[in-house]
Amino acid sequence: MVLAYIGLGSNLEDPTGQVNRAFLELDLLADTRLVARSALYRSRAIGPEQPDYINAVAQLETRLAPLDLLDALQSIEQAHRRVRLQHWGPRTLDLDLLLYGHQSIQLPRLTVPHPYLTQRSFVLYPLADIDPNLQLPDGISLQTLLSQCPFEGLARLPENR
Ligand code: ATP
Ligand code: MG
Ligand code: MG
Repeated sequence: MVLAYIGLGSNLEDPTGQVNRAFLELDLLADTRLVARSALYRSRAIGPEQPDYINAVAQLETRLAPLDLLDALQSIEQAHRRVRLQHWGPRTLDLDLLLYGHQSIQLPRLTVPHPYLTQRSFVLYPLADIDPNLQLPDGISLQTLLSQCPFEGLARLPENR
């Protein structure tokens, strides 16, 4: 069993509903259990002009190998009818594999930790909801990353919405 963290994001077609459904779908994956979920956050989009995002992080316990987990994440994105038109363009659902245990992975299809994890407030603050004492494979602590990443452009949404 490995603990994996997934970053969820949506800015089309009822983003909050997309993210909440994705949590349930992650829990239903084979050999996988949803252990914890962060609060929902609203963030300003990076990339082209587009609606704000709803973001969150899921903590999974899984027996899936990293590429099998990536396949599973991409099939959930497909089920949410994600269409790729534009790099960093608007989407119904983005599921990124942020961390997979303490492993560093460099494959053509998969880089873990996720390459932009350390710079993105909409990933770091939700991660801290789940495990404020988290450490990355290179030993850097989440607290250090947070101290270098302003909350700017982010809003934590109240529970149960
Ligand atoms: P960003 O990576 O900046 O968050 P994005 O999420 O919009 O951008 P996608 O279009 O979702 O990018 O994914 C592009 C490709 O990234 C995928 O086809 C996948 O193979 C690859 N990829 C590499 N590392 C990861 C990872 N850790 N999690 C998810 N996808 C990854
Ligand atoms: Mg992404
Ligand atoms: Mg992605």
